[in-house]
Amino acid sequence: MSKTLQLTKDLISRQSVSPADGGCQALMIERLAAAGFTVESLRFGPVDNFWAKRGSGGPVFCFAGHTDVVPSGPLDEWRSDPFEPVIRDGLLYGRGAADMKSGLAAMLTASEEFVGQYPKHRGTIAFLITSDEEGPSVDGTRRVVEVLRERQENIDWCLVGEPSSENMLGDTIKIGRRGSLSGRLTVHGVQGHIAYPQLADNPVHALAPALAELVARVWDRGNEHFQPTSFQVSNISAGTGAPNVIPGELRARFNLRFSTEQTVDGLKLIVEEILQRHRVKYTLEWFISGHPFLTAPGTLSQAAARAVQEQLQISPKLTTGGGTSDGRFIAPMGAQVIELGVINESIHKVNECVRVEDIDRLQRIYRRTLELLLAT
Ligand SMILES: [Zn+2]
Repeated sequence: MSKTLQLTKDLISRQSVSPADGGCQALMIERLAAAGFTVESLRFGPVDNFWAKRGSGGPVFCFAGHTDVVPSGPLDEWRSDPFEPVIRDGLLYGRGAADMKSGLAAMLTASEEFVGQYPKHRGTIAFLITSDEEGPSVDGTRRVVEVLRERQENIDWCLVGEPSSENMLGDTIKIGRRGSLSGRLTVHGVQGHIAYPQLADNPVHALAPALAELVARVWDRGNEHFQPTSFQVSNISAGTGAPNVIPGELRARFNLRFSTEQTVDGLKLIVEEILQRHRVKYTLEWFISGHPFLTAPGTLSQAAARAVQEQLQISPKLTTGGGTSDGRFIAPMGAQVIELGVINESIHKVNECVRVEDIDRLQRIYRRTLELLLAT
């Protein structure tokens, strides 16, 4: 059995439902220390994190990832114990097999091999590992980044080992993601008898034309790397349930997934201008859950894409689609950030699995990426 497969299995059997770490980080730390890394544990609240470094000065290449996993879900739907790694038909099953314990194992053994061959490599290899990616993401990478910023430590290149691949290993590298801005809107009216509309003020009618404009609006056409910005209403409610009462209030929630063509302040301004122009009486609370970021194709994405090409003879596509990752906290440090990992089809589902052969392939891709960037 390969070292990487063995380590993946060891990590899966350390049960680490978010924010628990289950001893995964202790195992990684022991191995990294033996490979010459200086490791610093950073526990915040219930969350274990660590920051490890080997080498000195720049460029700083950082592997990032998380040891926590989502809950198993209904146990009777799993074909085997989710925390007991089992191989069937070339697939390794277990919670975290794809998201992202195989990625952690691959970055660790890739680094061990690389420093064995290049003990005097250029710059610094670092690891930023958290056990709070699947949870609230408050005491995890976000806090570690704050510590690094206070110390003026920087990261030049960050490879997040999240499962980015869609149909086959290496087909997709994520180079950024859209921003996410949500609003909680309350429209104030005056409740009254439906037969006496002159004595009431219907908030549904007040909002309708503004909502029509918001929904129809072309915010932008996206750009080379991003889909167009999209406005979606997720919830809307008003009314007392009685058919003869004009409601006094309407509540709605909406979300904007936005490209780098927009700014948070710009979007807020447009939404409020439309509401005001239609004389809607409202209160509105805003929630920003992530700014868009983009790593323009450059040194890091080129090295990773070349490593994939050499190992698998395919050219990865560079995208910004999909959900969130901790890359959103690291990118604002000025780092180039990409996500490259195994196939994400089974993540968060019952019977999560990873192709056994992909584990060693990913390890070779990571190892080659290190070589292209830091070999002397
Ligand atoms: Zn993940």
